[in-house]
Amino acid sequence: MYWKIIPDYRGILSFHELALTFLRAWPITTERHPDSPRRLMPRWLMESDACSPVKEQPPGDPGPADVGDRPGPAALSLELLQSIDWKLFEEVCAEYFRLCGFHATTQRCGADGGIDIRLGLPSDPSRIVNIVQCKRWGKPVRIKELREFLGVMAANKISHGVFVTSSTFNVKAKKFAAENGVYLLDGEGILKRIMERSRADRERLLEIATEGDYLTPTCASCGIKLVSRRNKKDNSTFWGCINYPQCWYTLPA
Ligand SMILES: [Zn+2]
Repeated sequence: MYWKIIPDYRGILSFHELALTFLRAWPITTERHPDSPRRLMPRWLMESDACSPVKEQPPGDPGPADVGDRPGPAALSLELLQSIDWKLFEEVCAEYFRLCGFHATTQRCGADGGIDIRLGLPSDPSRIVNIVQCKRWGKPVRIKELREFLGVMAANKISHGVFVTSSTFNVKAKKFAAENGVYLLDGEGILKRIMERSRADRERLLEIATEGDYLTPTCASCGIKLVSRRNKKDNSTFWGCINYPQCWYTLPA
């Protein structure tokens, strides 16, 4: 991770925050530019309440028309988003942004530099206008993760960032994000956005979320599915990589 190689990152972060402030105050406004990222951004990305919890269920039938013999759940739900492989959650988010009109790219495995999804303009995919961090978590995202993401944004000279999680953000994280222009989408938020899409889009996203062995997590280093292992000391189970001992990646079960 970015911060692990910098022993004292607090000073650097202040510099990054200053750099971001400078970037935002740059006199060349992007709003009138023909390739404006703001124009391409869905309206909700520019709203300040992007992370507020959903108060009511969106209207309409949330389920796909015909699930046929397909195994697994018939529709996307918060429970499903919170239980699928973290890599599939990332892919669902990437596909969602593609459906919104972005050119979205993810990395199959290996060090991602703190960026899970890069969003480029359809007319020029190499021009990254927004970066996305995805956390398929059960616990709330804290200010620590937001600080790290802001540092990644600054290091990549990107002034627009979206942090998506299947869980929630704690109060400090929300405040920090609002102060620093990071758009937040919690589990209910991303689900609400998905449910506002067409039935075909929802089916496409469900298909990605439930692809293959969708409940088994992926090794972030090797890009292959982990296997269930047993800790010989306390007999507990955990997810380990089949490439052990070359790969030491593990996740709690
Ligand atoms: Zn591995």
